[in-house]
Amino acid sequence: MNVDLHCHSTMSDGALSPAELVRRAARSGVDVLALTDHDHLGGLDEARAAAGEAGIGFIDGVEISVTWREITVHIVGPGIDPSDHELRIGLESVRGGRVERAQAMAASFQSAGIPASFEGAMRFAGNPVMISRTHFARYLVESGVVEDARAAFRSYLVPGKPGYSHFDWTTLANAVGWIGSAGGIAVIAHPGRYSLSAAALADLIAEFGAAGGTGIEVVTGNHSTDEFRLFGALARRHGLLASRGSDFHAPEEGGVELGGLPALDPRLDPVWRKLEF
Ligand code: AMP
Ligand code: MN
Ligand code: MN
Ligand code: MN
Repeated sequence: MNVDLHCHSTMSDGALSPAELVRRAARSGVDVLALTDHDHLGGLDEARAAAGEAGIGFIDGVEISVTWREITVHIVGPGIDPSDHELRIGLESVRGGRVERAQAMAASFQSAGIPASFEGAMRFAGNPVMISRTHFARYLVESGVVEDARAAFRSYLVPGKPGYSHFDWTTLANAVGWIGSAGGIAVIAHPGRYSLSAAALADLIAEFGAAGGTGIEVVTGNHSTDEFRLFGALARRHGLLASRGSDFHAPEEGGVELGGLPALDPRLDPVWRKLEF
């Protein structure tokens, strides 16, 4: 069964509408899809309806932005009930401030000799309140400042480079709590992307577990084959449910195709054993 529990639509920083995304997933052989837009639930109804039409399983999800020890960590939450009040209020608080942050990013670009980036990035944002670094990256590519999105996140948009502006998201405990309150399963997204030492990673997993978190992404578009093994072993050692998700954003940004990843190691306990679809 091809299960993909992590992807984005135009409701956050993906390039396809929720329905287009679901149709593409069905064409790509996905049997069960979770839409996990950043800090927003607005695409779920459209995606669910499209999944019904396309004849694939669908899981409501979200990816929550967290600040943990000064770094940004993402927690995905497949299986949430999108009508949950605590989750909805929480997400509203996390995403508030994105527009001001984007203005600060644009001011930083301006100082680096790159004008009009706020307006430029906004043109790529399907949902203005969810303006993100991805939209700035698309503008940098469009305006010829960089060759591709990877280069945009190498030379700009990251700590110490033009276009970065520090922002405090929510706490790990809040994100895990909201997902739990909404009946979902909290999953540490792309743990290989945080450049954490083994000790810091162990602390993150311990705090996550103490807050009620039970899952970790093992097979994701952000991981190398070595990391599939590494985080698979970690999931087994800590008794965590394992997840698989492409983190698909757009057809032409060099990422992994929807459903296009290797299967989870059969020795792992998949997150979707606990989910309905
Ligand atoms: P934001 O929530 O505005 O901080 O933007 C975070 C988004 O930027 C992530 O969800 C990714 O889609 C994208 N992103 C972060 N780092 C990279 C990278 N190195 N390459 C491509 N996209 C990235
Ligand atoms: Mn993203
Ligand atoms: Mn993420
Ligand atoms: Mn993501």
